[in-house]
Amino acid sequence: MLANYDRSARALADLLKKEGVEDPLVIEAIASTPRHFFVDDVLKHKAYQNTALPIGQGQTISQPYIVARMTELLRLAGVRDKVLEIGTGSGYQTAILAKTFTKVYSVERIKALQWQAKRRLHKLDLYNVVMKHGDGWQGWQSQAPFQGIIVTAAAANMPQGLLTQLTDGGVMIAPIGEQQQQLIMVVRNGDEYTQHVIAPVRFVPLIAGDIE
Ligand code: SAH
Repeated sequence: MLANYDRSARALADLLKKEGVEDPLVIEAIASTPRHFFVDDVLKHKAYQNTALPIGQGQTISQPYIVARMTELLRLAGVRDKVLEIGTGSGYQTAILAKTFTKVYSVERIKALQWQAKRRLHKLDLYNVVMKHGDGWQGWQSQAPFQGIIVTAAAANMPQGLLTQLTDGGVMIAPIGEQQQQLIMVVRNGDEYTQHVIAPVRFVPLIAGDIE
């Protein structure tokens, strides 16, 4: 446990602000969330650096800047209430979403990661999150539609099934591609889906098929 984590988290939030993250609610969420909770003991000294870090099982906790930016993009698009996250991983992005939206649904394909994330969020008293062990390509049909969907692993191609789980006017943000990935924002308007390219990114792959 880092004694002065609040100072470290505040410094990280200030850095992200300098890098262009403007939404005050997102900045406050970063400043109030102990990122060292979400990594192994041996990596805790790096928890407040603006970098992705390994979380085991070949997965990573995303870079804080990208976590903040993706959250901000959903808010800028008007999303407030009900958000679906694909790829819970460490649960850090989930915690940030829990502080910025009313209700969060999160799907993870690796059971061990899902359990660990669930325990962490309870420790932080974040109870507006429900989690599911499952294949994110399928989304969460029984809880659909969602105002916002955020995918935190790169899909080789656009996960069309997820788009149908958006509300009319809903927004999905997802990294798409394999070696070369782009962060894409898709806005649903009735049966029409408009795509915007946001920026080049690098995420671990959104695995297709069996869950572990
Ligand atoms: N937001 C997380 C990112 C973790 S990395 C964090 O910052 O910690 C991406 C996560 O997506 C991994 O945990 C991986 O297991 C998960 N994932 C990959 N393919 C998936 C799929 N098809 N369904 C659900 N989760 C998936």
